[in-house]
Amino acid sequence: MTLAARLSAIDEQIADAARLAGRDAADITRIVVTKFHPASLVQELSALGVTDVGENRQQELTAKRAELADLPMRWHYIGQAQTNKASAIRRSADVVHSVDRDRLADALDRAAEGDDVLDVLVQINLTEDPGRGGVQPDGALALADRIANLPSLRLRGVMAVAPLDEAPASAFARLRSVADAVRAQHPDASWISAGMTADFAEAIVAGATHLRIGSAITGPRPVRG
Ligand SMILES: *Cc1c(COP(=O)(O)O)cnc(C)c1O
Repeated sequence: MTLAARLSAIDEQIADAARLAGRDAADITRIVVTKFHPASLVQELSALGVTDVGENRQQELTAKRAELADLPMRWHYIGQAQTNKASAIRRSADVVHSVDRDRLADALDRAAEGDDVLDVLVQINLTEDPGRGGVQPDGALALADRIANLPSLRLRGVMAVAPLDEAPASAFARLRSVADAVRAQHPDASWISAGMTADFAEAIVAGATHLRIGSAITGPRPVRG
């Protein structure tokens, strides 16, 4: 299958899942995760009408964005972020999905230049393993409140990755309740970033507004040396 065929097959599956869930597919943004692939793939995706791509490593994001500076594309940073990379991330990302601690929020805010405003999501850890990234659900509101008070960040919602050892539907239902609690305090924080190649249909049922789909569209990721 060609890239174009894979992309349209996934978009059909998204439309079907939305219909089944009684949702409008127009409310769902499909982000193509391009990590490990060359910048030329982002160019090909752009030619196919893709407007949103996701990267999970700062250096790779920075390099691709610099190479493709003129491409009309929204760049989503979806990886774990070191505080000392906050400034580099901010310079290359339009949206940061993975804000999971006060220090990172503060560092992103300090890295603002002029009056630019960065869209951010609070990453929720749906596992008990702190190494997987994200704030525990019971810490989400405090972090959301902190972000909302930082002038150069705009709190847009929450993000999560489904655990490996749990059915995605039940994990995403927990994410939904955290999302609802955050949104009750911050009405503009209406985004739910969830759903990857293996579980985007379940994420749509749970109300995901932003899907992060990689290999189903791009094909297998090149192995990193
Ligand atoms: C790699 C990645 C994805 C995409 O994964 P696929 O299984 O290839 O769809 C989504 N979200 C995050 C945070 C990722 O790192």
